[in-house]
Amino acid sequence: MNWMIKEAESALGMFPFAIRKPYFLVLDRKRFGYYLKDSPLLLSIEETPSFVAHLPDSELVCLCSEIINNLTKNKNKNYKIKFVRAIIMHELFHIRNMHMALTEDEALKSEKEVHSQLRREFPGLANVLSSINK
Ligand SMILES: [Zn+2]
Repeated sequence: MNWMIKEAESALGMFPFAIRKPYFLVLDRKRFGYYLKDSPLLLSIEETPSFVAHLPDSELVCLCSEIINNLTKNKNKNYKIKFVRAIIMHELFHIRNMHMALTEDEALKSEKEVHSQLRREFPGLANVLSSINK
């Protein structure tokens, strides 16, 4: 199993709230960008290592291995693991909130909310994401 999927499953096990069951998918840069083509996230794709698609029958969390590796390129494996856990927890909060962010404004608002939730529940992981660029 891809190590990112393994960390994602383990983060899911630590998430303290009940949510619809998500599936995890690791995509290459090309397909990841293609899936984001109608999303405001495409505007900042290099800072977007993951996103969640609220599908009718499930939640699909997509990770981009190239963007994750790029954002953590000077970091050790332990840091990369924490980074993946942090972005997964971030996406799990999106699933819990279930806000549809169709405009850039809504997307920003939804990001802010998730960020404060992550900080409240997992301050250590929130710090990992802040240290990258947000
Ligand atoms: Zn987000």
